[in-house]
Amino acid sequence: MTNRDRPVPGPSRRTLLAGGAGLGVAAAGAQLPLPAYARGRGGGPVPEPLKVSEAVGSGGAVSSVDPYASDIGVEVLARGGNAVDAAVAAAAALGVTEPFSSGIGGGGFFVFHHARSGRTFTINGRENAPRSFTETTFTDDDGNALNFDAVVTSGLSVGVPGTLATWEVAARRFGTRRLADLLRPAEDLARRGFVVDQNYHDHTASNAERLAKFVASAELFLPGGEVPAVGSIFRNPDLADTYERLRRRGTKEFYHGAIGKALVAEAENPTTVGGVEVYHGEMTRVDLHRYQAAVQMATHSRYDGHDVYGMSIPSSGGIAVGQILNLIEAYEDRTGKALADVSEVDYLHRFSEACATAFADRNRWVGDVRGVPIDELLSRGFARERAELFDPERAQERPIPFGFPDGDYDSEPRRGDRQPEPYEGPHTTHLNAADRWGNVVAYTLTIEQTAGSAITVPGHGFLLNNELTDFNFVPLTEGVPDPNLPGPGKQPRSSMSPTIITKRDDPVLACGTPGGSTIITTVAQIVLGHLTRGLPLVDAIAAPRLTSRNGSSELADLGLADTATGAALVDLGHQLARTTWIGNASGIAIDRRKQTAAAETERGGGGSARVVTPT
Ligand code: GLU
Repeated sequence: MTNRDRPVPGPSRRTLLAGGAGLGVAAAGAQLPLPAYARGRGGGPVPEPLKVSEAVGSGGAVSSVDPYASDIGVEVLARGGNAVDAAVAAAAALGVTEPFSSGIGGGGFFVFHHARSGRTFTINGRENAPRSFTETTFTDDDGNALNFDAVVTSGLSVGVPGTLATWEVAARRFGTRRLADLLRPAEDLARRGFVVDQNYHDHTASNAERLAKFVASAELFLPGGEVPAVGSIFRNPDLADTYERLRRRGTKEFYHGAIGKALVAEAENPTTVGGVEVYHGEMTRVDLHRYQAAVQMATHSRYDGHDVYGMSIPSSGGIAVGQILNLIEAYEDRTGKALADVSEVDYLHRFSEACATAFADRNRWVGDVRGVPIDELLSRGFARERAELFDPERAQERPIPFGFPDGDYDSEPRRGDRQPEPYEGPHTTHLNAADRWGNVVAYTLTIEQTAGSAITVPGHGFLLNNELTDFNFVPLTEGVPDPNLPGPGKQPRSSMSPTIITKRDDPVLACGTPGGSTIITTVAQIVLGHLTRGLPLVDAIAAPRLTSRNGSSELADLGLADTATGAALVDLGHQLARTTWIGNASGIAIDRRKQTAAAETERGGGGSARVVTPT
C-alpha cells in the first residue's frame, strides 16, 4: 500500500467547525462580504494594494507573491474565516492576477495544520494523466522522446485539473465557509479588473508567441494583438462568469457539466490559429468525471527538535526537503560541528552536498508508483549512510550516484548509477495563511510551465496546464527503473514543497515557493536560514540562493557567484552558474500569538505579506 492509498482519518466536519465556530467564527455558509478595498468604488478597477514584504502582528496572516491575493486572504481572516478559507479565497484571486502560474486549469498541493487536533493533513490536487496513457506516450515509433517544446504547447500535455476539487475538499472538510462564498472576491476582481504589474507584463511577453497560437488565448491575453502595458487594467469577464457559474451550480459544473465539456473538447482538439498544428490531447470526459482530490498523509521528519511536514508522493518535495535536513544533521554528527556555528562557505557547501544527494535518491526512488520507500528515505539510518560520501574539503563529483534506502545501513553501502538530471523548468506560485486559532496552510499551485499549455478554454477565461510534461519522456538511465514514466491515471512527479513545521505540536513556520525543481532546495534553504542560521524569516527568504540538483553545475542567484563566498565555493569544487533570481518564496513565522508574514523583498518585484492586526 502506498502512502497515497492509506485512508486518513481526518477530523470530522463537526470537529473542524468546533475549532472555528466555537471560537466565534461566523456560521458556515454565511455570505462573505467583498474585501473592504473593493467596496463602494462604483465597480471600477480594483486599485493595486501596497506590496509589503514583512508584516508582524496577530489575528491571522497571509503571504503570497501577489498583493491582491494576500489582501483578499487577510480580509477573509478579518471577517472570521479560518486559514483554510483565506487560502482558498486567495488562491482563487491568484487565478485572476497570476493566470500564467495557477488557476482552475491546473493542480497543486495543500498542506494544512489543524490546531485543535495538532495534526497536519494534505490535499493532493495534482493533475492525473488520462487513462489512455502508457509508458511510451511521449515517444515516437523508434522509442525516441518527442520534442519537449512541442508537447508543452499542445493538448497532449494537459492533465486532468485538480485545483477546483482541492478548493472544494479544503472548504468542505477543513474550512468554515462555502466554496461559493470564497470565490466571490476573486469573481469581483476578475470582473472589475486589476492593475497590470511588471510580472504580469513579463509573463505575457515571454509567452506571447505561444499564446498567439490559440484563438481564445490570443483574444484574452493579447488584446488588440498587444501585450498589456504595465499600469493598464486587465479584466477577465469570462473567468468572472466561470467563477459565478461555479458559485451558483457547484464544482459539478466543471467536473461533470458544461465547463468540463468545453475543457475536454479544447484539450482534445485545441482551436489554433490558421496554419498552426499541435498535438491533440487524450483526456476524456470520463477522466474528468473520475477526478478526486484526496486527503492524504503528510510526510513527516524531525529536524533540530521540530516536526517537519510536507507533501508526499506524487510530490518529491516533502521527502527531499526532509532528507536534506536529515543529511545536514548527519554531517553535523560526522564533523562534530553544528551548522549554526560554521562559516557561510561551510554552510553552503554542506547544503549543496545534501541537496545533490537528495536529488540523486529522489530521481531513482520517488514517483507516483507503489512501494516508494518513503520511511527509509526519511530515516536517520539512510541519512547516516549517505553522509559517508560527504567530504568537508571537497564537492563530490556530480552526478552523485543514488543510494539504496533498504534498511541495512551497517554493511558496506551499495552505490547506484550516476543518473542525469531530468529537465524541470521554474514556474508556479505559492501562498500561506495562518489564523488566530493556530490553523495554518501552505499551498503551492501551478499550471506547470508559465502559461501552461498556452491553451485557454474558449469562453471560460482560464488556461490549461501542461503538467504531464513533468513525467520523464524516456527512462533517465537505460536498465534502471524510472518511477516517473507516464502511465494510465498516473500523476507526474512534482517538486512542489509546501511545508509546515511545528514544535511540540504548535506551528512555528509555513513556507513554500515556485521554481520547478529549485523549489526543494529553496524551501530547505529558507528553513535552514531561519531555524538554524538565525535569520529573521524575511531575511532567510531574501538571502541569495544556491541550488544543486545533482547536475554538473549549481545555480546561484542575486550575485552570490561574484562574492568571496561564491569564489570559496568554486575553490571547493562547486561549479556555480549565475542566474538573476531563483523562486519567489513566501512564508509565515509563528511565535505563539505573534505572526510574521514574509515575502520576497526583491525577487519578482517583491511579494506581499499581510497580517490582520499589525503591531
Ligand atoms: N510542475 C512543477 C512541479 O510540480 C511545478 C511547476 C514549476 O515550478 O515548474 O514540480
